[in-house]
Amino acid sequence: MKRAVFPGSFDPITIGHEDIIRRALPLFDEIIIAVGYNSTKSGMFDPDYRMDLIREVFKNESKIKVDKYQSLTVDYCKEKDAKFILRGLRTSSDFEFERGIGQVNRMMATDIETVFMLTAPEYTAISSSIVRDVLRHNGNLKGLLPNCILNKINF
Ligand code: ADP
Repeated sequence: MKRAVFPGSFDPITIGHEDIIRRALPLFDEIIIAVGYNSTKSGMFDPDYRMDLIREVFKNESKIKVDKYQSLTVDYCKEKDAKFILRGLRTSSDFEFERGIGQVNRMMATDIETVFMLTAPEYTAISSSIVRDVLRHNGNLKGLLPNCILNKINF
């Protein structure tokens, strides 16, 4: 079973995340979308609500599981017997950030590979933090959020 973990804050999930996950589906038997959270650092949305939104987006995808975790990502992967970590790359600054995390993760667990996928050009500018800003100012979220949660999201 080729199982990947897609870790992230997903605060909230964006159309960019959705795109990476759908494109990665043919590569794996199962993808666990894992909401990483920190009890001392609260985001805009509660981790359980973030999971509800993700579940709504992938409700027809049997290969997708949704979970949350607080531990080190590699420890979480070991617990779930996942040998792959999936991450998306938007820009060169994403690359520098991800390189550090990916290399340290590999030092801690040599049997877990990080797999990077390039963002589709039209989604490069989209981030959860931009979505949060637009939400705070009641802006139009069309084109930023997956369509099926456009009218469901509230805070
Ligand atoms: P984190 O706090 O771990 O960066 P995010 O939820 O912001 O969590 O991102 C999770 C993953 O999704 C990261 O690999 C990030 O690069 C990727 N990602 C974020 N936004 C996009 C996007 N617009 N297109 C593709 N990948 C993205």
